[in-house]
Amino acid sequence: MPELPEVETIARGLARCVAGDVIESIWLGQKPEPLKSPAREIAAALEHSRIATVRRMGKHIVFDLERGRVERAPSLAKGQYPKPARTGSKTRPGRPSSRTHAEADEGVRPTQNTAQWIVHLGMTGRLQVCEPQSEILKHTHAILKLKSGRELRFVDPRRFGRLSVARAGGFEAGGIEPLEADLTRFLPLFRGRKTPIKSALLNQKLLRGVGNIYADESLFRAGIRPRRRASTITRDQMARLLASVKEVLGEAIALGGSSISDYVDADGEEGFFQLQHRVYGREGEPCLVCETPIKRVVIAGRSSHYCPKCQA
Ligand SMILES: [Zn+2]
Repeated sequence: MPELPEVETIARGLARCVAGDVIESIWLGQKPEPLKSPAREIAAALEHSRIATVRRMGKHIVFDLERGRVERAPSLAKGQYPKPARTGSKTRPGRPSSRTHAEADEGVRPTQNTAQWIVHLGMTGRLQVCEPQSEILKHTHAILKLKSGRELRFVDPRRFGRLSVARAGGFEAGGIEPLEADLTRFLPLFRGRKTPIKSALLNQKLLRGVGNIYADESLFRAGIRPRRRASTITRDQMARLLASVKEVLGEAIALGGSSISDYVDADGEEGFFQLQHRVYGREGEPCLVCETPIKRVVIAGRSSHYCPKCQA
């Protein structure tokens, strides 16, 4: 499952590839699961919009869309596009059917209306930027035709990924952004909480996008046991924890920078990069600092790894 650093890497890669491009049309597949907003709304928001920016919010990828600078291309002449097909229409073999083309002869009104396209990759979701002739992979749920001639495709075999749209600035990811947090915003999140600090770190309503591995690694670097009640952790330790969270996520993002192309190129099969784990997945192995065997406990159903000597 893509964690915050992977999503950040993917969003940066996409920003580099498609920011400034214009979505000329969109095809959406027949599977209902990936569509968190109705197909019609997604199509209406995306078609003929310019991608102003692509950024990460929590574990979501947000495309900020704008209208108004979109010129009607000569190739968009009436009759050029296939007619909109009804939902549930048969797919042509080997090629997805067109379901949500906007009326081609409507043109683009010079409005300032903007929207956001929000992509959550779920477990196996992927965004590909590719040439139109590249093979359409099985489990492709959306294809955006871009003015540059390329296509942006959403592929997701397990269909836990979600596509939705919101009005401009309307998307709220919940919680605070760990990389942007300072101590004055970080401390109140945990004040009075009797839950283990590990559970609190994973709580997406508090912090956006800190996953299991990164929580374990951050707690190790801060010298705090995952089971410690959040409310018992001192201000100094909290300061160390915040610094560790930023450090761990920052290192993972830096590692990901070199493999950006793996995510957005046509054959984005390359696995996610991995931080050199100090505790996660190292149960029974010697601590890299003190050689005490690493322990594993289950907290809120998640595996948690720590050094019983370095962490208190
Ligand atoms: Zn140790």
